[in-house]
Amino acid sequence: MIRHPAASHKPLHNVPNSCHTITLVGAGLTGPLLAISLARRGFPVQIFERRPDMRLTRTSAGRSINLAVSARGIHALREAGLWDLMSRIIIPMKGRMMHSLAGELTFQPYGKNDLEVINSISRADLNVALMNAAEAQGVSIHFGERCTGMDWSTGAARFRNEATGRETTVDSEVVIGTDGSASALRLDMQKLGRLNFSQEHLDYGYKELTIAAGPGRNHVIEPNALHIWPRGAYMLIALPNIDGTFACILFLPHEGPESFATLDTSEKAADFFAERFADTVALMPQLPENYSGNPTGSMVTVKCAPWQVDGKVLVLGDAAHAIVPFFGQGMNCAFEDCTVFLELLEQYGPNWKKLFQEFELARKNNTDAIADMALENFVEMRDRVADPCFLFRKKVELALEAKYPRQFVPKYAMVTFHRVPYSVALSRGKIQDRLLAELCDSFSRIEDLDWKKADRLIQRDLTPLETL
Ligand SMILES: Cc1cc2nc3c(=O)[nH]c(=O)nc-3n(C[C@H](O)[C@H](O)[C@H](O)COP(=O)(O)OP(=O)(O)OC[C@H]3O[C@@H](n4cnc5c(N)ncnc54)[C@H](O)[C@@H]3O)c2cc1C
Repeated sequence: MIRHPAASHKPLHNVPNSCHTITLVGAGLTGPLLAISLARRGFPVQIFERRPDMRLTRTSAGRSINLAVSARGIHALREAGLWDLMSRIIIPMKGRMMHSLAGELTFQPYGKNDLEVINSISRADLNVALMNAAEAQGVSIHFGERCTGMDWSTGAARFRNEATGRETTVDSEVVIGTDGSASALRLDMQKLGRLNFSQEHLDYGYKELTIAAGPGRNHVIEPNALHIWPRGAYMLIALPNIDGTFACILFLPHEGPESFATLDTSEKAADFFAERFADTVALMPQLPENYSGNPTGSMVTVKCAPWQVDGKVLVLGDAAHAIVPFFGQGMNCAFEDCTVFLELLEQYGPNWKKLFQEFELARKNNTDAIADMALENFVEMRDRVADPCFLFRKKVELALEAKYPRQFVPKYAMVTFHRVPYSVALSRGKIQDRLLAELCDSFSRIEDLDWKKADRLIQRDLTPLETL
């Protein structure tokens, strides 16, 4: 129900006049996905999004232009009946293609076979497809409406129209914040004085750049790989697009000798690229414009608890647990939130208080775990992937997995190709690292692996995984 407690608080048009409506704040990636499944189950759902409709204005969808979607995201999209549609606009990436300073290429497969891939998808295309599907399911999306928090005394959500400044309050049964890492709902929950909250900014930023398509919209470098230029303290990555381009992201410290602070002109950036990423120069004709025209983004890990207030308000996705992007899991994790939320809805029905509590109980230790693994993976991507010892260990991991497929599953595979709970992947990953260190300290050829020792250590320390 719409309320206008003050003269300036006018009703929004076309909002269902029902207290049973579920209000979602934010039509990014998670809001529309959750909305689709709620609407299918018969709930009236409305979404309020602060940005204009990107299908009309076609501005940048926001942060990074390409995302890697993997098992958890695919599962959630499949459950929502959307994966067939999405699978037409993805490019599978079978492994990492490392580019050395001298321009040599090394390919390292992600998984044990060609089915274990991650998939590059354009954030904008995915967002548009999700919004279209939500609307087709009867969800109304109100654009240009910024949530400014809650009226805690009445339980109504407050919005301000970005164009007119008009303020509105919206009554609904529950309000779910899918409004991203800087969530306005979460900020308002903090004011209630019970929210534990931590926010850790990385001292690195990122910038989006583009590798142009070749003649006939062909890819100019290997399309079925995630390209990495690891340079120790920083890195460049590139993900393929279906139009033949690559969406690149430069990760660089904010401050320091080689940083966004020192590379403060497109000329300096071009010199830097010529020296440090020489093989990209001919592929990036628009580097100067891209570098100076695109903003420098920041990355943050957000942890908070509780995620809900009295069964009335819940935060979910990045709003509850933003993570850094180095495991390619932020969206996958947020989509898994939707899977778990819907499973609990089956179990408890709209007993929102119980459902919200159980949801947080089921997710919190897992989202904390992926937050930690994502931070660890930054060092792996920008530095360790160039280290021959690391590459050798990866080979040993695959050999062990082939022999013990239910016991020794590499951490990357548990996170990316399976839906093993993140907290389990983290704890088993630590055990496996220790086993690998014990096994690999005395040889450098896979043929010399001491299988008896491997067998003894694995049987001793790793039970079979039930959730494969
Ligand atoms: C550089 C980079 C690369 C990444 N790569 C990957 C990857 O490869 N794989 C992966 O799984 N994840 C990746 N991620 C993470 C992923 O982008 C996020 O986890 C995901 O977008 C979270 O979805 P969300 O719906 O919670 O938030 P968002 O997608 O951020 O959506 C939030 C929405 O809420 C709206 N909003 C915000 N405030 C308000 C308000 N006050 N009122 C109304 N609306 C509001 C925003 O406009 C936005 O539309 C990456 C992130 C970055 C930064």
